[in-house]
Amino acid sequence: MAKIPVGVLGATGMVGQQYLALLANHPWFEVRYAAASPRSAGKTYRDAAAGRWNAGAGLPQDSVWDLVVKDANDISQAVKAREEGTCAFVFSALEMGKDEIRQLEETYAAAGFPVISNASAHRWTADVPMLIAEVNPGHTDIIPLQQKARRWDRGFIVVKPNCSIQSYTTPVYALIAAGYDVKRIIVSTLQAVSGAGYPGPASLDMLDNVVPYIGGEEEKSEAEPLKILGSIQGNAIVNAERPAVSAHCNRVPVTDGHTACVSLEFGAEKPSLDEVKRIWGDFRALPQELKLPMAPERPIIVREEENRPQPRKDRDADKGMAVSVGRVRPCKVFDLRFVGLSHNTIRGAAGGGILNAELLKHQGYIS
Ligand code: NAP
Repeated sequence: MAKIPVGVLGATGMVGQQYLALLANHPWFEVRYAAASPRSAGKTYRDAAAGRWNAGAGLPQDSVWDLVVKDANDISQAVKAREEGTCAFVFSALEMGKDEIRQLEETYAAAGFPVISNASAHRWTADVPMLIAEVNPGHTDIIPLQQKARRWDRGFIVVKPNCSIQSYTTPVYALIAAGYDVKRIIVSTLQAVSGAGYPGPASLDMLDNVVPYIGGEEEKSEAEPLKILGSIQGNAIVNAERPAVSAHCNRVPVTDGHTACVSLEFGAEKPSLDEVKRIWGDFRALPQELKLPMAPERPIIVREEENRPQPRKDRDADKGMAVSVGRVRPCKVFDLRFVGLSHNTIRGAAGGGILNAELLKHQGYIS
């Protein structure tokens, strides 16, 4: 099967690099188009990324180094690439003003490109699905309505949620899917510096320190799970009414991997700790059933050691796509406490975006 040629907008950034590394040997998709800011445009990817490659040991396919980076704001370049057969859809990993990203992503969709975005700009657009492929794959049903409302023929926009919420949203969803009502959650996140993009916070702010504030992050951590757990009603995705989430978000001196310390309250029926661990250990969803290439075999890995999960030891579990949970224990105020951990630039960004694209290909939205 010929691979589908894809473009990465923001290819030089922290998340863009992760896309290139994860797509290097992808069975379905091949990166043939790279775009970034006017600062990088016109340079080869090798020169544009020189000195700031940050995707760990992963590297792009060899041909990417010689691609000439285009200006992501110049849509005519992407249209030309599509005509030349080198860009069928785009992953958006841009970091610019929210309004600029919103407009630019819409311009790509209007020009006929499926846009799979990591940016927050469209997360609250009512007819744009915010996908975690294991949790709400059916929200893609809204795509035809989105296209119809905007008179887009082939183009559309789907987004990924914020990078920190997968460490608790997937485990919480697994409990809900098993029939337990989750009423309230208090979560404290410990978020890696790579979550802020490159070069990230100043080293003098981060070394020997914890910063108890990440702009806008607590609001996202509290609200986004409700859209993901919501349902399509008419032309919109309507939020679930609960769980209510209260979040404290902290930046910590860790390179990759967001940790979440969670206390959770159930409704009338409360599972035992063993039942919770069984539900998480057994949890499988559509991406696993379909054996999508980027899907982890076990979306949730339960660690029994008293001191796990830890970012350095657990963030790369199952290609960086699994959520590791541990310290599952009773809560004296609510019902259950646990610690969740996921890789922010893989599960929480590029890997999650690729999994969404695989799901969309399976569903026939990308070809
Ligand atoms: P980043 O490292 O700062 O990279 C930003 C990218 O956007 C670069 O390729 C940059 O190109 C490009 N860019 C900047 N200004 C531009 C402009 N005016 N026009 C066109 N392109 C422009 O950011 P990141 O961490 O990769 O994040 C990318 C997106 O993913 C953001 O929306 C972020 O919120 C989201 N996200 C990040 C994470 C994470 O863990 N880091 C997780 C989930 C979601 P140049 O290199 O040419 O400047």
